[in-house]
Amino acid sequence: MGIRRVKTIVALCAVALLVALVAYRVAKRPARSEVEYWDWLSMGTLAELQTRDHSIAKAEAQIMKDAFTEVEDALSVFRDGSDLSRLVADGTIRVSSTSHLARVLGFALKVADESGGAFDPTVAPLMKAWGFRGGTISAPPSATTISNILANSVGWQRVEVAYGGDGRTVFASGGTRLDLGGIAKGYAIDLAYERLKDFGGENFLINLGGNIRVSGTNGRGSGGWTVAIRDPFGVTGNWQHLPRQLRSGEAVATSGSYERFIEIGGKRYSHIIDPRTGMPVDNELASVTVIAPTAMESDAYSTTLFVLGEEDGRRFIDGKDGCEAVFVGKNPLGTDALRRVEALCALGPRNAMTPGAKTAAKWIADELAAMGLEPEIDDFDEPATDGSARIFRNVLATIKGTGSGRVLLLSHYDTKSGISDDFVGANDGGSSTGLLLALAKHLVASPVSPSVTFAFLDGEECVRSYGEHDGLHGSRHLARKLRDEGVALDAVILLDMVGDRDLTLTLPRNGDARLKGLFLLAAADVGRRQSVRLLPYEMTDDHQPFIDAGYKAIDIIDFEYGSLPELNDYWHTPSDTPDKLSAESLQAVGDIVLKMIDGR
Ligand code: FAD
Ligand code: MG
Repeated sequence: MGIRRVKTIVALCAVALLVALVAYRVAKRPARSEVEYWDWLSMGTLAELQTRDHSIAKAEAQIMKDAFTEVEDALSVFRDGSDLSRLVADGTIRVSSTSHLARVLGFALKVADESGGAFDPTVAPLMKAWGFRGGTISAPPSATTISNILANSVGWQRVEVAYGGDGRTVFASGGTRLDLGGIAKGYAIDLAYERLKDFGGENFLINLGGNIRVSGTNGRGSGGWTVAIRDPFGVTGNWQHLPRQLRSGEAVATSGSYERFIEIGGKRYSHIIDPRTGMPVDNELASVTVIAPTAMESDAYSTTLFVLGEEDGRRFIDGKDGCEAVFVGKNPLGTDALRRVEALCALGPRNAMTPGAKTAAKWIADELAAMGLEPEIDDFDEPATDGSARIFRNVLATIKGTGSGRVLLLSHYDTKSGISDDFVGANDGGSSTGLLLALAKHLVASPVSPSVTFAFLDGEECVRSYGEHDGLHGSRHLARKLRDEGVALDAVILLDMVGDRDLTLTLPRNGDARLKGLFLLAAADVGRRQSVRLLPYEMTDDHQPFIDAGYKAIDIIDFEYGSLPELNDYWHTPSDTPDKLSAESLQAVGDIVLKMIDGR
């Protein structure tokens, strides 16, 4: 059930419940707008009609319902008498070449062939072995079980197709079982679509568990229909609009692992299985959405691309007329952050008061400008004890909120001097800078209520030992400046060392109690509460000057960055390189920060 209109989600869920209570009978909800909504249960999921053809709406819903029932009767593996079940039981079946089975199985075999078996309707024995067809399993099937199934029962080439004369097709199952769950809903949508068009339907959207096809327009100006897809791991909203409206006649479908899955021993397994390996798909993708000229194509291709992964998937879909794909990765924010950390580290060391720091400041400002922001590089000079001038640069940018209030997010970007010529501080200075940039990019697209100011601070690292003239230069300068200007801030959130693959979030004692509470709630929300430790001691870090200036501040830091849990032996060593970081960790901290900002 990947795709539905944002506005109707709550109402749809309520109606789904109601409909279940009245034994799946077609139910009508009063029209709230120009678009009329009808929904009911079909094929184990929610069927929905949105229509602007008011005079024939009821008839349209009935036509659609009948088409779905017809397809279910022919193609359900859950029904003993269906053509598909008879083919499996008898090993062969003779049907009209225009029958539902001939059309869908014929196309399924074609896609199987084109995708090299990434899509394969003979996946059924694997579905069963992985516990997706009734019964419970307490452990994943053994490697031997899987290789036996692959050797003896899986492979679209086993299915024989012959022309039986008289416009009939003969299928022989080749001793395997078949499953059309990845394609038949799309076909049912196309059947309903054609019948509605024949009946005189003009402006409607039909949806079966996220397989959607539209006709005409939704009447909101620009033509076509606006459709939102689920953002599986988003925290600021569960829906994302498709990059463009659907044009009349087009279809869309989403395949993903986040709604249908099985849990065995605490681990989730996707209901989409790679027939080439026998394993549930576990790649870099959270979901794939495909726009296509028909719903059977979008349904089959979204499943195919989810198996193929983004790289092979793009190659596959590029050859298909009228088709477009949207790939959503598992950790979009974290992946973006990691890419930026790598780019920053590639610039070389960024020790304060060196040309490296100046290059880094300009790079950060360029990245912010590329997002459409107006960054400011605040150069300031702090005389050394011998009176010589020392130039530091803070980089600042603000994203205006949709409501009131203001939050300040901090990271230092300088590296510690005196470690080695190639010390790049991937976690220390790099991770928080990459994540803040990724958060800026995210908030430009989806702003939250408060305005958010990003400050990339210079001169955090001390040269000898922390003191009034050594270390925390950027934060002392900014805190003083904001206080002197009387700028009000709801919260100051410092990120430091937040990308370690083995993420432990240690909160130093010096920090605002309410922000710590918000942090703990947010960490629990994203499933990371277990990796948080409240430290019994204070830490000298960039949040302290803000506390001293009277602001509410918190330091989110992973001060266990090492080769073993609880060790910190990568910190301030040449081992602090990007390979020690992960997109998952950066995503988790990013999600926590977004939740904190929302609930401040
Ligand atoms: P998609 O990505 O479109 O398809 C995933 C599905 O395709 C899997 O669930 C599996 O069925 C199949 N599949 C998995 N891997 C592959 C692969 N590599 N190649 C090809 N296919 C693959 N569900 C119920 O709970 N109760 C019912 O009574 C019921 N009846 C149904 C009747 C029909 C005619 C159909 C088409 C589906 C029915 N379903 C029912 C739902 C079905 O079991 C699947 O869960 C559903 O089709 C998955 O669709 P999707 O859009 O979520 O995912
Ligand atoms: Mg599909």
